[in-house]
Amino acid sequence: MIKISDKYLTPFKSKHIKKFWDGLKDKKLFAPKCKKCGIKFFPPLAHCPKCLSKEIEWFELSGEGTLYSWTSIEYSVEQSYILGIIELKEEIGRSIARIMAKEKDLKIGMKMKAEYLNIDNSYFLSWTPVS
Ligand SMILES: [Zn+2]
Repeated sequence: MIKISDKYLTPFKSKHIKKFWDGLKDKKLFAPKCKKCGIKFFPPLAHCPKCLSKEIEWFELSGEGTLYSWTSIEYSVEQSYILGIIELKEEIGRSIARIMAKEKDLKIGMKMKAEYLNIDNSYFLSWTPVS
């Protein structure tokens, strides 16, 4: 069991990407699509990274990806976790989030799936290897 402290979990929840945060409550992963130029992108932003339009619509992602890289963050023996970069299956970007696994079980390129954490009524995206 991996212990998580909420001490370090204080995400900035911009109102412009509320759909993303709300989706995590329902165990769904949403990404923005620009209504003006049509590109899909991740991580969510308040505006399109290509044309800067703020006209955004949302679509649901598969919650699948592959492990691009990771590192171990260690505050102390009790306070450590793995931060990973996941290439989304949809190939629209990469997710940087916690990985709920032991470092010895990770391998670059392995299949990963989204995992939705509820910690004190705050919802977080994390990833776990597909077994
Ligand atoms: Zn655009």
